[in-house]
Amino acid sequence: MSNYKHILLAYDYAQNNEKVAQKARTLADQYQAKLSFLHVLDDIAMADTAYGTVLDLTQKTDYRPLEEHKAKLSALAESLNIPPEQRWLIWGNPKQEIVELAIRQQVDLIVVGSHGRHGLAVLLGSTANGVLHYATCDVLAVRL
Ligand code: AMP
Repeated sequence: MSNYKHILLAYDYAQNNEKVAQKARTLADQYQAKLSFLHVLDDIAMADTAYGTVLDLTQKTDYRPLEEHKAKLSALAESLNIPPEQRWLIWGNPKQEIVELAIRQQVDLIVVGSHGRHGLAVLLGSTANGVLHYATCDVLAVRL
């Protein structure tokens, strides 16, 4: 059986996603793996920001929607016991940024929900599907 060393939780704040977060935390504890948290920002306007930009969680801006996202991310990551250096907020396309961060950070397991904000009408949501297709490591889609 694989011994995962670095698990990436891709989180989108949809209803029921605490189940996905708890699963990632439990797996990280079981494998004594590092756990990282990623939210890809794709639902607020971000002027003059290129896709793929990593947003600094420590630097305050006067852009309220962004600060609200940062606060939400920090609170959730804190509750999951994920240290600041393993928290990521990236502007871009969710499936692409999840796959690319996993490669850059040498993640060996990505944990996603089977469905998030983008649709309960299909068997597997589009982000989950895209990550499964393009990831170079294992992917766990937690059934929601
Ligand atoms: P979807 O396929 O978009 O319905 O979402 C399925 C899962 O993909 C969610 O439960 C999350 O784990 C992940 N996901 C979707 N959108 C994002 C996002 N913007 N940032 C991080 N993870 C996401």
